[in-house]
Amino acid sequence: MPEPKRPTKKPLIFYYLISLLLVFLINAVILPMFMRDQVTAVDYSVFLQAVEENRVTQVELSSDGQEIMYIATDRHGQLQPYVTVAMPDPNLIERLRATDSNIQFSRIKPTQISPILTYLFSLLFPILLIFGLGRLFSRQLQQRMGNAMSFGKSSAKIYVEAQTGKTFADVAGQDEAKEALTEIVDFLHNPGKYAGIGATLPKGALLVGPPGTGKTLLAQAVAGEADVPFFSISGSEFVEMFVGMGAAKVRDLFKQANEKAPCIVFIDEIDTIGKKRGDGGFSGNDEREQTLNQLLTEMDGFDSRKGVVLLAATNRPESLDPALLRPGRFDRRIPVELPDLGGRTAILKVHAAKVKMEADVDFEAIARATAGSSGADLANIINEAALRAVRMGRQRVKQEDLEESVEVVIAGYERKNAVISPQEKELIAYHEIGHALVAAKQTNSAPITKVTIVPRTSGALGYTMQVEEDERHLMSKEDAMNRIAILTGGRAAEELVFNTATTGAANDIEQATKLARAMVTRYGMSEQFGMVAFESVINPYLGGDASLTCSSETSAAIDKEIIRLVKKGQEKAINILKDNLDKLHELSRELLKRETLTGQEFMHILES
Ligand code: ADP
Ligand code: MG
Ligand code: ZN
Repeated sequence: MPEPKRPTKKPLIFYYLISLLLVFLINAVILPMFMRDQVTAVDYSVFLQAVEENRVTQVELSSDGQEIMYIATDRHGQLQPYVTVAMPDPNLIERLRATDSNIQFSRIKPTQISPILTYLFSLLFPILLIFGLGRLFSRQLQQRMGNAMSFGKSSAKIYVEAQTGKTFADVAGQDEAKEALTEIVDFLHNPGKYAGIGATLPKGALLVGPPGTGKTLLAQAVAGEADVPFFSISGSEFVEMFVGMGAAKVRDLFKQANEKAPCIVFIDEIDTIGKKRGDGGFSGNDEREQTLNQLLTEMDGFDSRKGVVLLAATNRPESLDPALLRPGRFDRRIPVELPDLGGRTAILKVHAAKVKMEADVDFEAIARATAGSSGADLANIINEAALRAVRMGRQRVKQEDLEESVEVVIAGYERKNAVISPQEKELIAYHEIGHALVAAKQTNSAPITKVTIVPRTSGALGYTMQVEEDERHLMSKEDAMNRIAILTGGRAAEELVFNTATTGAANDIEQATKLARAMVTRYGMSEQFGMVAFESVINPYLGGDASLTCSSETSAAIDKEIIRLVKKGQEKAINILKDNLDKLHELSRELLKRETLTGQEFMHILES
């Protein structure tokens, strides 16, 4: 389709002003010019001379007696009209009679431009002009609207193998998801194998998981592996200004897909159009519903035996319309979860392959320090490390680059020139050692790997890093209580040593409260309430906000229980610090001096 011309930006009024000016010019200058050419104004003497030379054929006095118009032959012998002022000349008639030529005393009609021509110029021309402009604009308007009005033109792109350039080798640590998708790829390659038994392939597979875990990447890898046309469209591309457009796009997408079968259709971020119907109620709801209905109809309509496979990705599966998820539509759900220790190591290695690395880099150590990170985070860590190596003027990435970039991703860059007063610095040192000491003196806490009071761009003035030795999947009640004690350890040290409280503990307090609340409302970890869930998580993949479902009395009781749990943790922290007061002082002084203590340095001082 040829690109429609870019519509002119100038406003309509601009063109109307131009045409008005043209009309004005024609009336004021050009038309009078035509008229004036008709009659030549001359002196009275010229008139008299013409009379004497017998060249005048007609003479007429104007009605007010001011002008004389006459017709005379000019130098070339042609008859021309002239005008001159009428002088008080009583003998004029006599003299005219005296000439031997036969002068007529009748009315002169100067040869005018034909009235039709005048009419044309003064009336028809402007009308034509405006008409023409109108046509021009209506065409432009049509072109402009054309983009929106051209039903049945979807923006689905056809991706083939070479274009995504991704294969399963680019996706690490999602083995279950890869396995499920491999089957689909295999089906597209040998449909006969499946048809022989009578098996039909699932019509659609839905990739669900938190952001950055590689859902889009997996779909692209499927396209690369399957060697068939790959239609990729994002859910938001269906959302249009006019009702019915989204549905038209869906129809067109499936029409194209059916023509190109076997092929894969991938709808990214399907929650944009697949939200449960009937909730909300904003404008545009109609459009979304129509689009979804069309999608459901098309999914029922196409025959998976032909080899059209529908893939979709979302991180809000709970918001999808149930009709979309019933068997026969997206009947296969492929979880793409956050990677575990092995997965993280593998992802780091995949991305490290694109970067020059020292041979002795320990990826597993980095993977252990990044529990809860997504594939996108890990890709980012590798890139930050490479950038740091460049900043340091090195050719290869070292372990320390990776370690630093983990902290950059967690806490932001170092604020090297932040000015912090010595008193505050001391308080921060005690706060961090408070956390670390409580962690170290509890059984079953993850070992300390780093304590630092170098401020970071995230706003953290210091922090304590703990890294589990192996992957944890469960958290016991003891673990949770230990965690609360560690979180309150910072403030406990402030109170114990300086007898004060600072805002530096705000984040600790928030985290401790959140954990205590979850213990009561979701994990059944309080004796008072037992195994009752008061909260349900709304969106497990996007931060996990929870909504409370209980009476207001229960809600008040839950708050009391939360307070009790946090207080209990805090008491434990204070007791640990009291018992180790000399170590608290010694470690804090050391941290103040060195700004950063590694896990080994910390344990060395603690155990000396
Ligand atoms: P989403 O699940 O939000 O669609 P993407 O597929 O867009 O996430 O992933 C973003 C980027 O993160 C990818 O381009 C890739 O570089 C990296 N990534 C995520 N998961 C993985 C993985 N399992 N293996 C390798 N790289 C990954
Ligand atoms: Mg995505
Ligand atoms: Zn703290």
